[in-house]
Amino acid sequence: MGSGQVTDWQGKNVTVAGLGVSGVPAAKVLHGLGAKVTVVNDGDDERARAQAAELEALGVTVRLGDGDSLPDGTELIVTAPGWKPDKPLFLAAERAGVPVWGDVELAWRLRGPDAPPWLAVTGTNGKTTTVQMLASILKAAGLRTAAVGNIGVSLLDAVLDEERCGDLDVLAVELSSYQLHWVPSLRAHSAAVLNLAPDHLDWHGSMEAYAADKGRIYEGNRVACVYNAADRATEDLVREADVEEGCRAIGFTLGTPGPSQLGVVDGILVDRAFVENRQHNAQELAEVSDISPPVAHHHPSKEGASRPHFVAPHNIANALAAAALARAYGVPAKAVRDGLRAFTPDAHRIAHVADVDGVAYIDDSKATNTHAAEASLASYESIVWIAGGLAKGATFDELVTGAAKRLRGAVLIGADRALIRDALARHAPEVPVVDLDRTDTGAMLQAVQEARRLARPGDTVLLAPACASMDMFANYNRRGEAFAEAVSELGA
Ligand code: ADP
Repeated sequence: MGSGQVTDWQGKNVTVAGLGVSGVPAAKVLHGLGAKVTVVNDGDDERARAQAAELEALGVTVRLGDGDSLPDGTELIVTAPGWKPDKPLFLAAERAGVPVWGDVELAWRLRGPDAPPWLAVTGTNGKTTTVQMLASILKAAGLRTAAVGNIGVSLLDAVLDEERCGDLDVLAVELSSYQLHWVPSLRAHSAAVLNLAPDHLDWHGSMEAYAADKGRIYEGNRVACVYNAADRATEDLVREADVEEGCRAIGFTLGTPGPSQLGVVDGILVDRAFVENRQHNAQELAEVSDISPPVAHHHPSKEGASRPHFVAPHNIANALAAAALARAYGVPAKAVRDGLRAFTPDAHRIAHVADVDGVAYIDDSKATNTHAAEASLASYESIVWIAGGLAKGATFDELVTGAAKRLRGAVLIGADRALIRDALARHAPEVPVVDLDRTDTGAMLQAVQEARRLARPGDTVLLAPACASMDMFANYNRRGEAFAEAVSELGA
């Protein structure tokens, strides 16, 4: 199982680690190719049993409640991306010299000879938005494409769906840090790391390990490595990457771009990378106002000038990164503009829910870490902040210090809310805080009512929890929906 394409799976002993969204399809595909597949799974609940029964009916061996012992004779492990690298199963694999692939690696290896190239995106925040902007731009250029990967469309499905994928020109691929950890041989056409802030450190073990996993996305790039000029760590990853001869480093910046950068000049997105004579020339791509979503209820700046179409800076950065990848692929400037205009953001990403009594209610439930919440909080001027949930090992001092001036008040929910409460007490003692000592689902209704009490006309009530949702909700979607339901009850 070297780095080449594996063509003969007949009789190969493959262990699939983990049932679930990626494990079941992987097991089926490998079984279909003739491999001898054993699935190992930690859990032994009802859902696992149903999935196991389905696979066993096909002739796949399944071991429930035993995710840690390496089956005898295993030649390859294909793992669910979420499994922690320090699990005993992987340590045993390492000792035995057995390679471990993630679901993305499997997809990469199984892709056909004429498979479309990958334009890949990772980063702590903004991945989904950027990949969707990218797909929209590629479509506007008349290319056949799909947004796939961590975004909820399995790469394995995309790659194996000959009818669909055989027809595609290029894939816009979102990759998580977990997926990148397990993808040793991916070679993208071009790739972007949007930003790097501490997240999932409990999984990766350290910031260095997290960064190194993200950096894998640049390995072997052919045309462009796109980095964030405002985030040195992303540029360092480009420098460390081993890329194809001629591959270029392309920066994006919210300021005036230098040569080989994309940036912003007087409200215009400008390309100084993919133009002839980039020392002297620049190409206009689109206007900032072409980017969605506009930030609702952004109030006049201190100078008194109102900004009718204010766009959150992080979304301008996402648009620039998407434009850079699209331009690396060769799309014309006009397609960038048309694609950005056609783009509509996914739910729960600074979504305007309603105005009640002159207060805007904004759902950024997807702000599941402090870096995202920081971007969110920077987009509004006077905020009642609803925050809390599972902190995943994060600290909140920097976030609270940066946002203190903008906070009218804070309402805290969820398991780790004390961490935020303590940070507020340290860095923003004058900000009124309501600490809701409950983690049941109904707590959101009370949180929104408390937020309403704290808000003044012109304020924004912002759900930007800076934490994961799973202590109280099934996922961030449910959390955002609970917020919207609670807001709708205010009007009643
Ligand atoms: P991801 O797929 O990486 O989770 P999303 O596009 O879904 O990213 O955005 C998640 C959240 O991160 C958004 O709701 C917003 O709060 C924040 N965000 C989006 N883009 C950026 C960015 N470039 N920098 C910082 N925060 C961002």
